[in-house]
Amino acid sequence: MSLQIVHYNNPILRKRGAKVTVFDAAFAEFAAQMIERMHEAEGIGLAAQQVGRAQQVCVVDLRGTEAEFAYELDGGHPPRDLFMPMVLANPELTVAPGTPEEESEEGCLSFPAIRGEVRRPIAITVRFQDEHGNPHVLSCDGLLARCIQHEHDHLQGILFIDRMKKKLRAELDEDIRALAKQTRAKD
Ligand SMILES: [Zn+2]
Repeated sequence: MSLQIVHYNNPILRKRGAKVTVFDAAFAEFAAQMIERMHEAEGIGLAAQQVGRAQQVCVVDLRGTEAEFAYELDGGHPPRDLFMPMVLANPELTVAPGTPEEESEEGCLSFPAIRGEVRRPIAITVRFQDEHGNPHVLSCDGLLARCIQHEHDHLQGILFIDRMKKKLRAELDEDIRALAKQTRAKD
């Protein structure tokens, strides 16, 4: 059965995810289903909260984009097709001191039709485990860094609308309220 994507303002989106401690076949299957659901929705990232589970795991796949970004995975530079789609369990982000920030437009599968500029550091390092529990370290910039920060936020119960400038958030308020109302009616 395909996972269902929950929309704002389903309360699960505000829950901090529990750490993944068991990397068994069921967890690998859940991660595979998240990837499948992300692809169906034509998204580039999806967090567990968005499919109704408050757990520290998200998936990312930028192969369908034209985005250029620099990256180093476990000290090497494997071709994108070899490490994407990615499963990031228990991701821990670090941003080097002095890293510049940049505004860029983001969307979110839990906010259909709502998009807006969000300011974020342009480069990150993330330590995470894959679906089998193997540890990895990835340093990256560009859309990959932005996407991982957006998904990492979800795992803490933080949404992209929380990081928008007040003026933009106010401009989108009507659409955001309408979405919340629609979600309530459906649940
Ligand atoms: Zn999102």
